[in-house]
Amino acid sequence: MTVVADGEVRVAVAVVAARLVCRRCGRDENVAAEFTGGACLTVAEARGFVVDGAEVAFDGRCPPCRAVTGGRNT
Ligand SMILES: [Zn+2]
Repeated sequence: MTVVADGEVRVAVAVVAARLVCRRCGRDENVAAEFTGGACLTVAEARGFVVDGAEVAFDGRCPPCRAVTGGRNT
């Protein structure tokens, strides 16, 4: 986040191509998300880097696998 001279607050925003990846069955879903003012963007901004896109993968378990494992992380 940057506060410019006139007091306007600018928040770094990047459109993220995110993936939801199931560790158990390998299901891989693409989702679009808008990522606002995260730590990575703040670091990039501090280094004078303008971020205009990113890709993120979230690992976990999909609903069917959660049902099979009963909530265990296996
Ligand atoms: Zn799964």
